Amino acid sequence: MNAELHAGGNTWRSLPAAQQPEWPDQEALRDVIAELESYPPLVFAGECDQLRQRLGAVARGEAFLLQGGDCAEAFDAVGADQIRNKLKTLLQMGAVLTYAGQVPVVKVGRIAGQYSKPRSKPTETRDGVTLPTYRGDSVNGFAFTPEARTPDPQRLKRMYHASSATLNLVRAFTTGGYADLRQVHAWNQDFVKSSPSGQRYEALAREIDRALNFMNACGTDPEEFKTVEFYSSHEALILDYESALTRTDSRTGNLYDVSGHMVWIGERTRQLDGAHIEFASKIRNPIGVKLGPTTSAEDALTLIERLDPEREPGRLTFITRMGAGKIRDHLPELVEKVTASGAQVAWICDPMHGNTFEAASGHKTRRFDDVLDEVKGFFEVHKSLGTHPGGIHVELTGDDVTECVGGGDEIFVDDLHQRYETACDPRLNRSQSLDLAFLVAEMYRD
Ligand code: PEP
Ligand code: MN
Repeated sequence: MNAELHAGGNTWRSLPAAQQPEWPDQEALRDVIAELESYPPLVFAGECDQLRQRLGAVARGEAFLLQGGDCAEAFDAVGADQIRNKLKTLLQMGAVLTYAGQVPVVKVGRIAGQYSKPRSKPTETRDGVTLPTYRGDSVNGFAFTPEARTPDPQRLKRMYHASSATLNLVRAFTTGGYADLRQVHAWNQDFVKSSPSGQRYEALAREIDRALNFMNACGTDPEEFKTVEFYSSHEALILDYESALTRTDSRTGNLYDVSGHMVWIGERTRQLDGAHIEFASKIRNPIGVKLGPTTSAEDALTLIERLDPEREPGRLTFITRMGAGKIRDHLPELVEKVTASGAQVAWICDPMHGNTFEAASGHKTRRFDDVLDEVKGFFEVHKSLGTHPGGIHVELTGDDVTECVGGGDEIFVDDLHQRYETACDPRLNRSQSLDLAFLVAEMYRD
């Protein structure tokens, strides 16, 4: 480890770090960290700065953030089809929000690095056998065997390579023609006939086409329509990995976590005196922090003090995840006190994590109506306070899974077993994601 270079990125080591794996072999871990430190960056500091600027527009009320992707990415799902389907869904949602919501949309995937999961219990017991809980593919395997569940630091290298392969394809798709707005119909192929949300999208795509043809006829063909600005994000959970991928920017001497453009700190690891907040305070990436229903206004203000002492719009994004039944009661005080402090954070709604329940079948699921109701509550609160509902943070996939119940193309509790594929939390499928985008666009416009 280059002590001088990395000193700033390692100050977290003297503080308690929640949710870290118990690696059985510390020497193997040290070797992996040294190797990761020699790897090239996955993203560039300048790109992180650009995203911080885009999020600054969100914080000022001039743009809307769409952040979404898997709860947990999996190594065996790093395939062209899965990545394209996820991206396609996000691009379609982006088109709906931009056109129907009439607002610039900042697009950020929970992608290319979302491999680590905080868990409520350290172990899991089945049929009298107790093993370590699954903590994401970066740490251990999903299979319920002692071999799979033993944390293996070699997996941190696989996370890097899986993130790299994913990001490479994402960059190719978003800049190589696939994301050209003229492809607005192509993203919907194989979907239109089978689904009401696909048909609704097709009607919107025809309008976009007409608008493009109109501009073309007027003699303009803007470059902006040919590529899409798309950013990666993940939870900065395993600090050995994140700090091994922290580099000093040669332009400014500042530290950046080059494992992704934006990183966030989860609800379970945002202790004010803990290692995660310390780590995040040292890097210049845009930072998200999840805020659950027990967050006090004082906590929020201290987080601002620690993470955004300069009060720079775009630096800090608060991702609230209160639950549909709580948001209208809990959010107003946070927003009021933060606003009164003079800070300009971006407020984003994660309508997923406060609305999880276990169905009778044993599947962890979420109701589409609860998700929608939390977003509604989020808009209501911000509208009543005159602040900006800055965006949504959702768990989704481009595949036709059956993990959340409800939606226009309704999934029933009895359908959950059909395609329940998530390694962690239940995701909206493509049709439910599009439904949500249309409904959020309406809320934004109203
Ligand atoms: C997540 O985003 O998958 C997650 C674990 O969220 P939270 O920290 O809000 O519980
Ligand atoms: Mn999740």
